[in-house]
Amino acid sequence: MYRLVKLKEEKVFKDPIHGYIHINDQLIWDLINTPEFQRLRRIRQLGMTYFTFHGAEHSRFNHSLGVYELMRRVLSHFRRNYALELQDDEVALGLCAALLHDVGHAPFSHSMEHALHMKHEIWSRKIIESSNGISTILNAFKPGFAKEVSSVIANEHPNKLIESLISSQLDVDRMDYLLRDAYYTGVNYGNFDLERVLRIMRPHPKLESIKNDPNTPKVVLKFSGWHAVEDFIVSRYQMFWQIYFHPVTRSAEVLLGKIFKRAQDLARSNYTFSFMLEPLDDLIMNNVITVEQYLRMDESFMQTVFYQWMDEKDVVLSDLCRRLINRDLFKYQVLPADEKESKRICIEMEQLLRQKGFDPEYYMETDYPKDTAYHVYEVNGPLIKTPIAAIDNQDHLIEISNLSVIVKSLGEKKSVGATNLYVPELKNNEVYER
Ligand code: ZN
Repeated sequence: MYRLVKLKEEKVFKDPIHGYIHINDQLIWDLINTPEFQRLRRIRQLGMTYFTFHGAEHSRFNHSLGVYELMRRVLSHFRRNYALELQDDEVALGLCAALLHDVGHAPFSHSMEHALHMKHEIWSRKIIESSNGISTILNAFKPGFAKEVSSVIANEHPNKLIESLISSQLDVDRMDYLLRDAYYTGVNYGNFDLERVLRIMRPHPKLESIKNDPNTPKVVLKFSGWHAVEDFIVSRYQMFWQIYFHPVTRSAEVLLGKIFKRAQDLARSNYTFSFMLEPLDDLIMNNVITVEQYLRMDESFMQTVFYQWMDEKDVVLSDLCRRLINRDLFKYQVLPADEKESKRICIEMEQLLRQKGFDPEYYMETDYPKDTAYHVYEVNGPLIKTPIAAIDNQDHLIEISNLSVIVKSLGEKKSVGATNLYVPELKNNEVYER
C-alpha cells in the first residue's frame, strides 16, 4: 500500500480560469518545486501566437497546473458520486501524469519541435523517467513509479480510465487549454460550460469488462447533458481555425523554421558562428543531446541566441533573426485551389525573389492547415479514435455524432484550409544587398 502524504496545510495557486488550484499532497508540491517543472514558466503555452494576439503570454506552467486541477476534480467527482474505488497510487498516477504531461515542451513549443524534428512527448517521457528532480521524487513515492507515469503519457499503461482522462477526445488537457487560450488571447470562441461538462462525465458502469476494448469509451456522458459536450467540440473547432491556425502566427513559425534551417546548413558547411550557446550546437549539428542539456533550453535562452545572431556575418541568418526579433514577418497570399495555377504563381514568385536577391530556400514557404474537430470513422473505414458517447437509463451507449447533427458534420471530413504562400514584403526597386 502506498500512501499519499498530505501537506500540513493546503496550498493554493490563484488562477484566472479555475479560481484556485488546490494542492493537498506533498508529492505534487515537491514535483512543482523541481527545476524541471519550474522551467515551464519560461515556455509560452502558445509559441508564436503572441505576435498575433498580444495577450497570449501565458506559460506551460499555468496550463499544467490547470490540467492537474481538472484531473483532481474529475477523480474526486467519480469517487464521491459513482463510488469509483481508487487506491492512493492510482490517484497519484492521474495527478502526476496530468501535472507532468507537457514537461518536455521545447521553447516555442511546436514551432521548434517541427523545425528540429523533436517530439515533446518523447522528451516528457525522458524527463519523467531520468531527470534528477522529477524521477527521484516519483520513485521515492513508489519504486518504478516514474516509469508508470511516463507510460500513461505513452498510452501504454493498463489503467485506461486515467489514460483517457489525460488523452482522448474528451480529456482534461483539451478542456484546460481551450478555456485558457481563449481567455489569454481575448476571444470568446473557446468558451464552453466546464462545470456542466465535468458534472455529466462518469466512469463507464462496466469499466472492468470493457477496459481493454479500444472502441468503448472509459468515460461516458449522462444522457441529459450531451449538449454541453457538443458545445465543447464546436469550441475546439473554432479555436483551431481562429487562433491556432492564424496565418500571421504561422508566418512567425515559418520564420523560426527558416532560422533553424539556415543555422543547420551553415553548421554543416563548417561555418564558424561568432555566437553559440551549448547545447544548441549539438542540437543543430547532430540532433543528439542529453536530458540535462535539453532542460537548459527555454525561451530566454533562444531569444538570446536570435538576438546575438542579428550580428552574424552570414547575411541570411542575421536578416532572418532581425525579422523575428522586430516582428518583420513574411507576408502571405492565398494560393488558388487550382493546382496548375498555384504552381505557376510559386514558380514566378521564386524568380522574382531571386531577382530581388532573396534565396527562395530561406525566403519562401507554402503551408496549409488541416484538422478534424471530432474523429469517428474514416469514410467506409475503421474506427480511428475512441468516440465520445452518452449513456441512457438502460446503460446503452449512443455515440455523440448520432445525437448531434453539428458534431456529425464536423466529424465527417477533414477541414483543410487554403494554401498560403509566405514571402518577405517586396518593395519596388529594392534589391537585397549581399
Ligand atoms: Zn497540455
